[in-house]
Amino acid sequence: NQEFPRPSRTRLIAVANQKGGVGKTTTTVNVASALAAHGARVLVIDMDPQGNASTALGVSHGTKDPSVYDVLEGRLTIAQAKVQCPQFETLDVVPASIDLSGAELEVADLANRNDLLNEALSAFLNESEEHYDYVFIDCPPSLGLLVINSMCAVTEMLIPIQAEYYALEGLGQLINTIGLVQEHFNPNLTVSTMLVTMFDKRTLLSREVYNEVKSHYPSIVLNTTIPRTVKISEAPSFGESVISYDPRGMGAIAYGEAALEIARRSPSVIAAIDAKRGEH
Ligand code: ADP
Ligand code: MG
Repeated sequence: NQEFPRPSRTRLIAVANQKGGVGKTTTTVNVASALAAHGARVLVIDMDPQGNASTALGVSHGTKDPSVYDVLEGRLTIAQAKVQCPQFETLDVVPASIDLSGAELEVADLANRNDLLNEALSAFLNESEEHYDYVFIDCPPSLGLLVINSMCAVTEMLIPIQAEYYALEGLGQLINTIGLVQEHFNPNLTVSTMLVTMFDKRTLLSREVYNEVKSHYPSIVLNTTIPRTVKISEAPSFGESVISYDPRGMGAIAYGEAALEIARRSPSVIAAIDAKRGEH
């Protein structure tokens, strides 16, 4: 039972990759749960209209339920929309419902359309009685307005990379978009973390993908990789993270180690990573 350091300020982390099925939601849900299981106070914001993170954290997200859609359109505050995850007392969730898919068009004409989530989140964190250690945002598989809103609301990006043949394809485009957001909207944005998911230690390919990511982003990719396990994939159908569903299994252990590595990345380390990135 290792010691998880607590950040002195709230760490704001968006989990993004425009590819679908690479483990964004699984990573959001399980890293957030692992941190909460170690006593951290965590907020997960589901920005994907599919609502998979909401499902996996056991919170209801029908179109009648309060959701991040209401937050973006100014009908509810985050304080009003958040609900507690049934498995972890210190984990709150702002769910997403399918009607969030209409938000991109509905807010398209607003001057502050990129900043809707940032404004709501800043207001919430400033006004809230409770101090959050971490906020995680689960992004949809696109580079559209919902993702730009997420990038404008955080300081850190966590990019899950699936250990498969085309793993790094599209990564340049994602890094490029992050660079544009940094330049135009959010100078504090940095890619703090990459995590290789669905790693199969029996295959050479998995190793090769890891080594390639490591050679390009040595200080950003976590040492921990996430194995492909059945428990990880079946936990969401029980409305649970693998951390609560199978706490002693390989999946929970790996996500626990990834969470510990993330917790140990202090802001000063992240600043150093960023300075190094600027050298290239
Ligand atoms: P994304 O959010 O990027 O679209 P998901 O996290 O939903 O990706 O993962 C895609 C699918 O792969 C889901 O069915 C999920 O349960 C499964 N999956 C993700 N990570 C693992 C893993 N480590 N082992 C087994 N299945 C996984
Ligand atoms: Mg997802």
